[in-house]
Amino acid sequence: MGTFQACESLETRYVNRRLIRFLMNLKYLRLVLRKPALVSSIHLLRFFNNKSGVVIGGDLRGHFKAHVRAAKKIINVDNSEFNFGKPTNADYVTDAANLFFAADESLDFVCSSHVLEHIANPLGAINEWKRAIKKGGIIYAGVPDKRYTFDHRRKRTPLSHLIDDFEKNVDQTDSTHIYEFIENWDEKRVYSCNKEQFLENVRNNPKSQVHHHAWIIDDVKEILEYMGLRIVYGPILRRETIHIIGRKTEY
Ligand SMILES: [Zn+2]
Repeated sequence: MGTFQACESLETRYVNRRLIRFLMNLKYLRLVLRKPALVSSIHLLRFFNNKSGVVIGGDLRGHFKAHVRAAKKIINVDNSEFNFGKPTNADYVTDAANLFFAADESLDFVCSSHVLEHIANPLGAINEWKRAIKKGGIIYAGVPDKRYTFDHRRKRTPLSHLIDDFEKNVDQTDSTHIYEFIENWDEKRVYSCNKEQFLENVRNNPKSQVHHHAWIIDDVKEILEYMGLRIVYGPILRRETIHIIGRKTEY
C-alpha cells in the first residue's frame, strides 16, 4: 500500500510538473504571438521565470519588460509616488540604495533601468542590491550610454570617482554633479518628454533627476565586475541603452 501511495504521489508530481510547463508554454506562446521578436531573446527567461525579485524605477525596456513578467513575484520600488505626474504604483517608496524590506540573500533578481545614473553613490546601490540577492541571483541594469543621450558633451565618470563616492558613503543629497550636468546637457537630445517638463522636474528635484554620472558601455561592465559580479549577459547596446546582467557568485 505504502509503495502504491509513493508511486501515486510521484505520478501526481510528474503530472503537475507537466501541467505547469504546459501552462508556462501557453503564457509564452501568447506573449510571443503578440511580440514575435521576443523569440530572439527567449534565453533571458531563465533569469526570471518563476523567480522573485525587485524592479526599481519601473521603466524596464524592450525584451526585459516582457520577460520579467514571467517572475513569480515582483516587488516594485520607486523613489517617489509620482513620476511626471503619473502614479508609479510602487510597493515601496524608498531610495534605490536602500532595500530595507529585503532580508539578506532573499531575492533572485534586482532589475533597474535608467536608474543607476541617477544614483549619487552607484557602487553603494549595487552593494545593497548584492546584499539582497541570493548566491546565484542576478542584477540586471539598463544604463544609458552617454554618447547617445543629452549627456554626450559630458566626460565619462572614471571608476576611481565612484570608488571615492563609495568610500565617503555619499548619499542622494550629494550636489557635486548638478552644476556640471546643467552646464553640459544637450536639450536637443531630450526625447522622453518635452524640454520644459524635464527642466521643471530637474528644478523641483535636482538630486534625483540629474544624471550624477555619465558612462559608455565599457564603463558599466567595469563597474559590475569591480563589485564582484560575474557578467552573464551583455553588455549590449540597443538604441541608447546598455543592457547588462551580473551574477552574484559568492556569499
Ligand atoms: Zn559622484
